[in-house]
Amino acid sequence: MISYKTNRTKNFKFETLRFPGVIQTIFTRHGGLSQAPWASLNLGGTVGDEPSHVKGNLEILLKSLGCRSEQLVQVRQIHSANVIVANNPLDAIYQGDAIISDTPGLLLLMRFADCVPILFVDPVNNAVGIAHAGWQGTVKQVSFHTVRAMETNFGTNPSDLFTAIGPSIGPDHYTVGADVVKRVEDVYADKSDEILIKDDDGVKLDLWKANEISLRGAGVRNVEVSEICTGCNTGDWYSHREENGKTGRFAAVIGLM
Ligand SMILES: [Zn+2]
Repeated sequence: MISYKTNRTKNFKFETLRFPGVIQTIFTRHGGLSQAPWASLNLGGTVGDEPSHVKGNLEILLKSLGCRSEQLVQVRQIHSANVIVANNPLDAIYQGDAIISDTPGLLLLMRFADCVPILFVDPVNNAVGIAHAGWQGTVKQVSFHTVRAMETNFGTNPSDLFTAIGPSIGPDHYTVGADVVKRVEDVYADKSDEILIKDDDGVKLDLWKANEISLRGAGVRNVEVSEICTGCNTGDWYSHREENGKTGRFAAVIGLM
């Protein structure tokens, strides 16, 4: 990922997703209005932060991109594998954990604090997507289903897709219980050895590797992995686990302009 700054915010974009006409940004927690423990660019409206600050943060985010609120596509994230196809702006009317679109002028926005942001660009058919994958979305294969939905809706050939896995909880910070281990083993079968790391402290889950395997299983060849752990870097990112649930949500966005 490449780091860059605007007047207020500190952002990243993926090197391999830089195509003309594609806006893609992962916002850090810097540059917003919120006070601790949400400081400062918190986009989460259900985490106890002052609503006027969250609204102001969204305005700061939009201004930094040169976008307006009328362009936003937002969904209610519920740890599912539901993929929403957006042709119009949406204000969290639908529940889902992936959004795809081939409509220029729309800004797809999702919120994160440890769950994995996954961005998708089909430069052949001019289509984009974004997915939100915690352990539940991961074992439900939301990243696989996003690729399939782009094939169905836009004629995407998975081998043409460029995908990227953003800052999220890394395996070093993600010890999981027996129930999660079982779900991963059921879904990933012989590949679960690459995803579950067993050591003296228990079993750690590598969500980056799991989603990469799901993407490659859908026929994707290009997968950029940021390998930035939110738990290791709470100065820049919100981490639900490392900050004991008292934290905000950072935004990832993608759109065709
Ligand atoms: Zn870590």
